[in-house]
Amino acid sequence: MDEEGKGIVKIKNKIVHVPNLLEGETAIVEIIQKKDFVKAKVIKIDEKAKSRITPKCPYFNNCGGCQLQHMSYESQAEFKQQKIEKLMKPFGKINKILTMAEPFYYRNKIHSTLSQDQKGKIVSGIYEENTHRVIPIEKCMIQDKRADMIIASVKELMKSFKLRAYDEDRGQGFLRHVLVKTGFVSNEVMVVLITASQVFPGKNDFIKALLKKHPEITTIIMNINNRKTSLVLGETEKVLYGKGYIEDILCGCIFQISPKSFYQINPIQTEILYGKAIDMAKLTGKETVLDAYCGIGTIALIASRKAKEVIGVELNKDAVSDAIKNSKRNKISNAKFYNADAGDFMVELSKEKQTIDTVFMDPPRSGSDEKFLSSLVKLKTKQVIYISCNPTTQERDLQYLVKNGYKVEEIQPVDMFPHTYHVEVITLLQKV
Ligand code: SAH
Repeated sequence: MDEEGKGIVKIKNKIVHVPNLLEGETAIVEIIQKKDFVKAKVIKIDEKAKSRITPKCPYFNNCGGCQLQHMSYESQAEFKQQKIEKLMKPFGKINKILTMAEPFYYRNKIHSTLSQDQKGKIVSGIYEENTHRVIPIEKCMIQDKRADMIIASVKELMKSFKLRAYDEDRGQGFLRHVLVKTGFVSNEVMVVLITASQVFPGKNDFIKALLKKHPEITTIIMNINNRKTSLVLGETEKVLYGKGYIEDILCGCIFQISPKSFYQINPIQTEILYGKAIDMAKLTGKETVLDAYCGIGTIALIASRKAKEVIGVELNKDAVSDAIKNSKRNKISNAKFYNADAGDFMVELSKEKQTIDTVFMDPPRSGSDEKFLSSLVKLKTKQVIYISCNPTTQERDLQYLVKNGYKVEEIQPVDMFPHTYHVEVITLLQKV
């Protein structure tokens, strides 16, 4: 199987990657080839693998959001474990992946695109790959159930209020997307209605009716996106009900979550991920800690209780302002946040010869860069805890650190995204 969980098949010395096909299976596969583009589809499975189960989700074959629902959860964990073993074994032994006890309905952020089908019926779901056609999805096995019901009600109300879904090709219609964010601990629910225009006919009655059906909603926001763009959210926002954000609790800290701010989407596993990362650091209360690529300051604020001081650095201006608000909200006074490129910031720190005892780094999928890593080496930071959602770029960065005076002490995979091929990895490095 390949990294994305597709089966690898060799046909006349050509390699084809087939979705929904497991190692050791015998199957009839249809292959469509147009120039370099190859699409493979399983038609019939003759011999099934032991790990195969019937996916619980009726949309499995069309949606593409979950790639591994045809494998038992134990086999998914084994698949992810092996993927990390293969990639990272040269660095040392790998801990057993931390899995979820209940690997369904874990997402706290749900985004649904609206459209009209050929009969004019309003549908919601996700875009089919490379098209503007929406695949209707009424229920999702990995999202908070409350969101499915709210989205269904929005569609019903659109019908009675004669509001049309936006047509991406014609550039006509009103409602483009619905975004729902839920606080798993606080039970607060945010609904963001993404519209193509400022004018919302029947707005007050619409909001009243939605709240009557769903008293669990704590805030409703209108976000106006009138551009032809694949980005979901536009610049302008109007709070239609409630405080305009939700709060949730993670590892004992309260976080404010606005429509645009980044917040980990699986809160149950995030507690496990951060808990493990902070345990690895063995903080004593005397350290200066850097949280690089800190987002809204989650790791920094959780670590601040066990350190002398923490510094967070983040490129996104809104996230930094959320981080500052979050530190005030939690009455944390030993945390400072900076809005900068993490690499540039590290270069400055290394020029000033600042002492940083522990670095937590959690870069985006593209990983870190040489500017950051070389300054880290110059700073002679004692320990580095590298959290990554992309093992390939993490492995590349680990190579650099290992060549430049660091030793990998521990590698811990965490299953943050059950039923997808994604896997998160925490690595502890120490200065030799
Ligand atoms: N640690 C946080 C966020 C991790 S996501 C959490 O767990 O919630 C990665 C973050 O890196 C994003 O917030 C993104 O805005 C930020 N980022 C991307 N490139 C960056 C750069 N060059 N310098 C600093 N931050 C960057």
